[in-house]
Amino acid sequence: MTHENSSPVLIVGSMAFDDLELPSGNSKDVVGGSATYASIAASLFGPVRAVAVVGDDFPDAVLNDLTGRGVDVSGIERAAGKTFRWAGRYSENLASRVTLDTQLNVFADFSPKLPARFKDSPFVLLGNIHPALQLDVLSQIQNPRFVAADTMNVWISGERKVLGDVLRRIDTLVINDEELRELAEIHNIKRAAAAVRALGPKRLVVKRGEYGSMLFDEHGVFFVPAFPLEDEVDPTGAGDSFAGGLLGCLASTGSLDGQALRRALMMASAVASFCVEGVGTRRLADITRDQVTTRLESLRSLVHLEVG
Ligand code: AMP
Repeated sequence: MTHENSSPVLIVGSMAFDDLELPSGNSKDVVGGSATYASIAASLFGPVRAVAVVGDDFPDAVLNDLTGRGVDVSGIERAAGKTFRWAGRYSENLASRVTLDTQLNVFADFSPKLPARFKDSPFVLLGNIHPALQLDVLSQIQNPRFVAADTMNVWISGERKVLGDVLRRIDTLVINDEELRELAEIHNIKRAAAAVRALGPKRLVVKRGEYGSMLFDEHGVFFVPAFPLEDEVDPTGAGDSFAGGLLGCLASTGSLDGQALRRALMMASAVASFCVEGVGTRRLADITRDQVTTRLESLRSLVHLEVG
């Protein structure tokens, strides 16, 4: 795989041990976190710079694996203490989940320090972590070309003010439909999207799980289906893989026009679909760029119609 023309993508987020209760069975200590999924996904397209914190219990082998994928892990701090932990239980149809436990551990005192060579990163993904940490990272970057952020219900309900500061400073918000409704306090997706865009982000990407995703920008609305899978195993990290794939694809072409965004959205949908096919990062970590391209073509054919 050659990445010579691709700009690096800086990704900040969580690195975690997840305990997952899935219809197919329970899995403990699964390596996850928003930065992990997003970095693996973005690395399919080009170089990645990761910023996160892990504890002294986190395996070197995982960091070495990321390095082997072209992820610069020098922004991943190893702190004394335990790695962040999250536990979740999925419904029988995988359509919903509840958080059973969140242990911040080393995240509680995390103060990201970007290595000097990360500061010129043109593409930035502020993965789902506390919005104050997202702002902290942003303040250390000089003149990024494109900044996208993800967030979640915990920050929407508990950290609305600082999340508002993030929204004013980013180009694109990537968010799921329920979170969008909560943030806008409007049920209708189109009106909620307009309300959130009025808070700052020029574009909004709405993830709707198995119902696909939507882009709202100055050109209007664009829809991409989710790839219909026969075997859905674990949706954990699908949203982060989507965001990582989106940024990776944009950075690999360097274009930010409406068409480039639409193509990247489709690519992100293809990447995210692989994530769901295995527990944790197992399947995502196994795929090649060619497999993503093949799935992109399948997605394209899903919505292609010869009008006679
Ligand atoms: P997703 O399924 O895309 O929403 O991402 C799931 C990942 O997010 C899991 O691997 C968790 O470790 C991570 N996660 C869950 N809650 C939080 C949180 N409060 N802050 C940061 N990361 C989290």
